[in-house]
Amino acid sequence: MLPIRALEQQIVGALQSCPRLVLQAPTGSGKSTQVPQILLDQQLAGQGEIVVLQPRRLPTRMLAARVARERNGSPGGEVGYQMRFAKVISPATRIRFVTEGVLLRQIIQNPALPHVSVIVFDEFHERHLHTDLCLALAVRCSRTHRPDLRIVVMSATLDASSVARYLHPCRALVSEGRSFPVEISYLTKPPDEAREPVWDRAVRGLESVADTTTGDVLIFQPGSREIHRTIRALESSRLGRMFVAFPLHGELPPEAQDAALAPHCQRKVIVATNVAETSLTIEGIRTVIDTGLARIPRFDPVRGINTLLIEKISRASADQRAGRAGRTAPGLCLRLWTERQHGERPAHETPEIRRVDLAEAVLALSSAGVTDMEAFAWLDHPGAAQLDRAASLLRDLGAIGDRGITPIGRQLLEYPIHPRHARMLLRAREEKCEPEIALIAALCQGRSILLKSTGKTMDAAREAAWGTDTTSDFFPLVAAWRYAAAHKFQVDACRPLGIHADAAREVERIVHQLAQSSEPTSAPPDSAAIARCVLAGFSDQLARRLDSGTLRCELVHNRRGTLARESCVRTQPLFVAAEIREIGTLGKDLSVLLSMATAVERTWLEEIFPDDLRSERRTQFDPAQKRVITRHRVLFRDLVLDEGRACEPEPSEAAPVLARAVADGLCAFDRWDDAVEQWITRLNCLAEWFPEEGLAPIGPDDRLELLGQLCYGAVSGREIKDKPVWPVVHGWLSAPQRAFVERQAPERLPLPNGRSAKIQYAIGSPPTVDIRIQELFGVREGFTIAGGRIPVLVRVLAPNHRPVQVTQNLRTFWEETYPEIKPALQRRYPRHEWR
Ligand code: ADP
Ligand code: MG
Repeated sequence: MLPIRALEQQIVGALQSCPRLVLQAPTGSGKSTQVPQILLDQQLAGQGEIVVLQPRRLPTRMLAARVARERNGSPGGEVGYQMRFAKVISPATRIRFVTEGVLLRQIIQNPALPHVSVIVFDEFHERHLHTDLCLALAVRCSRTHRPDLRIVVMSATLDASSVARYLHPCRALVSEGRSFPVEISYLTKPPDEAREPVWDRAVRGLESVADTTTGDVLIFQPGSREIHRTIRALESSRLGRMFVAFPLHGELPPEAQDAALAPHCQRKVIVATNVAETSLTIEGIRTVIDTGLARIPRFDPVRGINTLLIEKISRASADQRAGRAGRTAPGLCLRLWTERQHGERPAHETPEIRRVDLAEAVLALSSAGVTDMEAFAWLDHPGAAQLDRAASLLRDLGAIGDRGITPIGRQLLEYPIHPRHARMLLRAREEKCEPEIALIAALCQGRSILLKSTGKTMDAAREAAWGTDTTSDFFPLVAAWRYAAAHKFQVDACRPLGIHADAAREVERIVHQLAQSSEPTSAPPDSAAIARCVLAGFSDQLARRLDSGTLRCELVHNRRGTLARESCVRTQPLFVAAEIREIGTLGKDLSVLLSMATAVERTWLEEIFPDDLRSERRTQFDPAQKRVITRHRVLFRDLVLDEGRACEPEPSEAAPVLARAVADGLCAFDRWDDAVEQWITRLNCLAEWFPEEGLAPIGPDDRLELLGQLCYGAVSGREIKDKPVWPVVHGWLSAPQRAFVERQAPERLPLPNGRSAKIQYAIGSPPTVDIRIQELFGVREGFTIAGGRIPVLVRVLAPNHRPVQVTQNLRTFWEETYPEIKPALQRRYPRHEWR
């Protein structure tokens, strides 16, 4: 009996009391095959369906077949499966194994999930982006439409408590399972990755343990290419006679996948991707050889898409792989790295949501009606910057608008590819060039198929093979790929042209997937049609050459960049760059290197993005000429396509711009002097001192308004230089108001000797006068203005004009300070009067 069966009653009990359950049990316990059956047989699914989500295609099909067989049926009956390009279900299906894309689409299309009673998230620790999205949307569904929906999350290596917290209220069950000890051995020296390819290393590892072990062997490699190389190397080594070798990965036909798992009389080596890490249990494995590598999706900032990169797996992942050797008896795991290197590996895998571009996710969520991505209940929040970047790209692609997802956005979701490339493919439908664009999209996914040219001979061979179209850097790639395909991807044929045969073969597989949904076209499309599709996908990287002499460009979103020297797009002023590399900052601009360029025509922008083009009359002050100039500019989003010729501005356009230039100190009214400034300050002070008078103060905006009135009819600094300003400034007030200003905040303060002193006004400090001692004789108290409301601050000056006291009340000056300083002053200035 499988260990999970011991938990059967607890599983049933938990789900009867609470609709959410987290189940942790080691690989091989029977989670994937038994739990769906328990749910069905114990009536936990009512009349509805049990959907089992699998992160990978291969186990999806295999599990369905296994469970169907255990129930004496075959896939498509009570038990079925569904993934892209394969749907083996019927109305009788109660247990449906599905891949993530299928479930996501189902939730998006009908968020209430009718007919679904239970969703089982299997292998949850893989934490694919789509799994996270599906779980979040399933939880949302159960909180809104479907409180009865049961959610089961299963894994061998789960952080059960954090998931349970996320799913709250939620029950958690753990099974210890059974397994045998696995001895782990490391290399003593770090492997020399440049010298010995990973397949040769794996075979050498197996050679070292083959004679001392029994049973079958499982070798982990990152991808299909490495797997096939390993098998080739193994078959030509001395192990070829000892073992029979099988590849195991998702790209194999089903028969080949089944063959790997079937029992065999000879000792067996299975060379697998990490599909064999936890998703599939293979009986009889006693030895695991682990290269420690996996291909994982990650955001590539250069191409602006997610791409598969070969990376080192985490320690947790390595432990799972080792565990595969201890299923039926004690085993051995050989790690092809050193113990020290092991310590340097990350403890766990980063969830995909923190590694990849979220454009696809945001699009899917928008389509499910989620409007606030920031506030969405993420299991791991991806961060606001990431979400913003995704939303900005989707807006540029026309996939989302102010009111959420657009019809274009919904169509993009139909393609199993990044929205950027989906947008190209969508356009290709209209342009009737789907096969070509599928090829270009495929060329964007992996490594470049063209190596750097080795010199003139190769250049000439290339030119002879594919000509010299200079409108897109994609065209040589397309031609190179066609050449490789015509030569069946043979290394010998590809080498003289510097074509990477393996990479070209990988492209073929992707083309095949993408082209499955497209119809072959009859006439070959013109290169303009292809370029228009590329434009549709990369409009956020539209660039305009600043001039024909340099490679410098301006890009949308306020960026500047330089076109790569090796680009074949040399003369066209407008192009889109499929790759952009940030190479540091120049001043305050982020500088970027643009490559994989495709020339575009201005008219295409009007055709494809009519809403993003606008023309505007722009009036600006030119500091060099000190004059206002108007131009008609045409912009694509924020990129100026065309500055237009300068023309004479209308007075109403010129005045505010010239006024702003005056305010910024770029030109001036000579007659706007200190007296004008003081008058404005006097007015502003009075507005504060006499709120009941309702005087309108002159703030910064009003000042611009006044300058605007003064500038009206002028376009240059020269015209305003000598213009009188008082008539306009005075015009701010009525005649009685002006008289009020003169009376209450006079320019000068009358003194007892018949003279007067200038008052300095400033906002926030009292009005101030400078007065010599002699002029103050007879003034006992001090001065006030504003009808006695505001005392004046007096700076009492000695004959040398140095202040000896600053005060509002002269009484203390006369009584205390004056008697003290008088004798000394009298001695120094005997000719002055001293009372
Ligand atoms: P878990 O999901 O907990 O890792 P599974 O339910 O996948 O466990 O597997 C339980 C047991 O069923 C394993 O011991 C495995 O050997 C067996 N099994 C599962 N699938 C197959 C299959 N396609 N062929 C043969 N045995 C299988
Ligand atoms: Mg499983």
